[in-house]
Amino acid sequence: MKNYKNELFTEKIHLHELITKNGVKNIYDAVSQCTRCGYCLESCPSYVADKKENYSPRGRNQTIRMLIEGKQKDVNLAKDIIDTCLLCGACTNICYGSVATPDITLEARREERDFGNSFIYKAIINIRKKRKTFDLILKTFYIMHGMKLDKLADKLGMFDFLGYPSLSNAVKKLIKPPKKFLHEEINDLMPKEAEKAGWIYFLTCGTDYMFTNVGKSSISVLKKIYGNGIFMKNLCCGLISYNYGSLNDAKEHALKNIEIFEELRKENPNAFIVADCSSCVAFMKSYPQMFLGEEENYKRALEFSSKVKDIIEVVKPEHLSDIKLDGLKDKKITIHHSCKAYNDQGLKDEEEKVLKPILKENLIELNESNMCCGGAGAYSFTKPEFSNKILYRKMKNISETQADITLVSSTSCLMQMGYGSKTHYSTEVKHYVELIDEILK
Ligand code: SF4
Ligand code: SF4
Repeated sequence: MKNYKNELFTEKIHLHELITKNGVKNIYDAVSQCTRCGYCLESCPSYVADKKENYSPRGRNQTIRMLIEGKQKDVNLAKDIIDTCLLCGACTNICYGSVATPDITLEARREERDFGNSFIYKAIINIRKKRKTFDLILKTFYIMHGMKLDKLADKLGMFDFLGYPSLSNAVKKLIKPPKKFLHEEINDLMPKEAEKAGWIYFLTCGTDYMFTNVGKSSISVLKKIYGNGIFMKNLCCGLISYNYGSLNDAKEHALKNIEIFEELRKENPNAFIVADCSSCVAFMKSYPQMFLGEEENYKRALEFSSKVKDIIEVVKPEHLSDIKLDGLKDKKITIHHSCKAYNDQGLKDEEEKVLKPILKENLIELNESNMCCGGAGAYSFTKPEFSNKILYRKMKNISETQADITLVSSTSCLMQMGYGSKTHYSTEVKHYVELIDEILK
């Protein structure tokens, strides 16, 4: 039999090997592990939304396999099949062979003609290198948003005219922006003790620029539970570049963050790194995959990722065992498991273990709790029809719980389900750590 070795992947920079649950595999070997059993179909949000084989994990694996084998020639003709994947990992989670469909699909996506060439991506990455300029532009945009000028531009069809119809969807989903970004006030929030830090706070972009209250709650909770901690002064984790742009940019961001951590570790050898967006945390836990074949950097990435924790895994039941709850007595609460926590990190019942003893029958189980909400980074802007169908299903499930409050752990879910709570079913969507902060207060 011919030895296929990533033959599809010749043009652009991509990962040649993946770390799968069955060991390190090249893309062809990884995709060949799919036996086409179909067991994963009903767990896949894009398949469930449209019931088409092409939009299922099996359909995607089959297409990518045919591309590698040369039976299908042009990756750009398979664009729709590849681009409708939310990279949510629900398929890998349920698959007996743990086939790494999202990783395989992303590597195929890198081969598409226009992948990584978006003007918006390049502008964000370049302007972000000058933080003050980036802050100024974003604040100006937020002021325009407050004056509804972005909605006016949308009505006038300017986003279509500029060739970015996805901006129209982004504008609709934008929540109330903060007046100050978190990095502008974080030093006043951090502990002032001189003793060694037990934790290092990694500030993610979503928390910094949109959901600053989430970060404030995280810091407050960490101070109460773990005492002294420090701010990492990190760069973006690199996930935006990894998913939408250049693999080299993503690696650059990762290495810079690893370097910052290595410096901090000299003074604080036992500190763990903690962040409050499950998508960024899952990505940082996967840093080693980007450095396969680079021995020294791989080791450094492995050490870094072993120290990374999601805020939902550092709050333990014993931290709240003395709490007598008054304020939330009449509230029904449910938990949407952000897919990057549940599927990628394997954090399946951390929140329940903490909350069930306190909330008792007021904690209501959510049907399909780990099915993606359709947010998935920029997916909700670029694939609005799929995204809204998936969101509708999520909000319908939530409506059946009659929950007053719905908890999530990723900033993408906060935005998407915040929108869903306005358009589909009214529930207060908040980050899990915001509720923990409230309880501890
Ligand atoms: S990804 Fe796994 S569960 Fe889905 S069809 Fe392939 S082998 Fe079966
Ligand atoms: S990652 Fe999610 S959307 Fe993509 S194939 Fe798997 S289950 Fe479907």
